[in-house]
Amino acid sequence: MRPDIPAGAQHILEALTGAGYEAYLVGGCVRDLLRGTEPHDWDICTSARPEETEACFAGRQIVETGLKHGTVTVLEEDGPYEVTTYRTEGPYSDSRRPDYVRFVSDLEADLARRDFTMNAIAMGLDGRLHDPFGGAEDIRSGLIRCVGQPVRRFQEDGLRIMRALRFGATLGYELEENTAQAVHDSRSMLGRVAAERINAELCQLLLGDQAGIILRRYPDVLCQFWPDLEPLVTLEQNTPWHCWGGWEHTVRAVEASPADLILRLTMLLHDIGKPSCKSTDEKGIDHFYGHPAAGAQLADQMLRALKFDNRTRERVVTLVEYHDVQIPCLERSVRRWLGRLGPEAFFQLLEVKRADGMGQAYEKVKGRLAELEKLRVMAEEVIVQGQCFSLKDLNVNGRDVLAAGVPAGPQVGRVLNDLLERVLRGELPNERDILLASIPKI
Ligand code: ATP
Ligand code: MG
Repeated sequence: MRPDIPAGAQHILEALTGAGYEAYLVGGCVRDLLRGTEPHDWDICTSARPEETEACFAGRQIVETGLKHGTVTVLEEDGPYEVTTYRTEGPYSDSRRPDYVRFVSDLEADLARRDFTMNAIAMGLDGRLHDPFGGAEDIRSGLIRCVGQPVRRFQEDGLRIMRALRFGATLGYELEENTAQAVHDSRSMLGRVAAERINAELCQLLLGDQAGIILRRYPDVLCQFWPDLEPLVTLEQNTPWHCWGGWEHTVRAVEASPADLILRLTMLLHDIGKPSCKSTDEKGIDHFYGHPAAGAQLADQMLRALKFDNRTRERVVTLVEYHDVQIPCLERSVRRWLGRLGPEAFFQLLEVKRADGMGQAYEKVKGRLAELEKLRVMAEEVIVQGQCFSLKDLNVNGRDVLAAGVPAGPQVGRVLNDLLERVLRGELPNERDILLASIPKI
């Protein structure tokens, strides 16, 4: 028994090899074992055909996940395992799945269809590696290298371009020179890849520790599916606030934000409206009046195009729209913004503003960064104290307003909002009797 391999995986490898087939751990789990990190799933490849695999596990629960593609999922006590017959792949004409796969009897042919050398290593139960493309060496040097000719591999499946960048961002590896060149040269292949597949890779890329390095080096790849980024990548900004161009500022803002998808997406898109809003005054200073609203609109289109879910899209759009608002350091402003955005989005907005500031000329903005911290503390106090900042916190409701003689209809909402406004400003306490007495007689 190997302590670093789960019992279920060992059991499957033993069952298949015991029945006379070859079987190995392969792909991401071997890569992660060699890197010394914990694999999150354990894929197995085997010389057994799918029906032969099924026969080996007769009586066990199995799922015919992708029988056509050679994959059988075996449910072991410690989880599901995908067992895939050695295969080569046909072309990806719909860019989702290969048009067909051909089962083969040779491990090396199966390894050769895989994307990068680090993902093309098989490991047997005895711990011996089958590593025909030098993947272990590339892992040691931190290199992402295509198996075979990079351009050809990217032509077969354009998604591999995004996978290369995703692995670069998450593992902190560099793209080997020819692979990097092919990523640039073949980027138009992404036009043939389904938006959902690009989306999944982009999200992982953005959450990677080294996302900034990848964004800095490969903006051309992102422009392929988000052409609206292009003017931002080349944007120059001559203002006292900025010491960097649009793209370097964007990358720094992404790097300065926590590894949270909403925040990283927001930072990536927060200034997307700037290029179309740029004007230069007589002193040669650039201005970007209206860029948050223009950016929100563009961000909305971009996130739709890449099939983001509504919740993610709406939140990012909101944060882009408000990323530049000035929130005075006053309790009543904090209450107003808490009410307008809700607590979750409010605190996200503070993070967005902090990350935005970190990407600017630090000396100029450090005062603002301290203010953001004050706003955060104030907002936490408002919430802990149970202060009123939205209609649902108000100690009167629509029924009370009706009972006080206001006719049913839009008037009721107007009266409530007016009361809330006065409470937010601090003109009225949020006390029921006083609020009831303040309902206008209509
Ligand atoms: P992760 O840690 O994200 O799961 P992974 O390497 O396991 O990384 P998967 O998408 O789970 O990635 O794929 C499993 C294996 O299948 C990969 O290691 C690689 O060998 C192969 N593979 C996956 N996608 C492709 C692709 N588009 N082209 C070629 N080989 C691929
Ligand atoms: Mg995997």
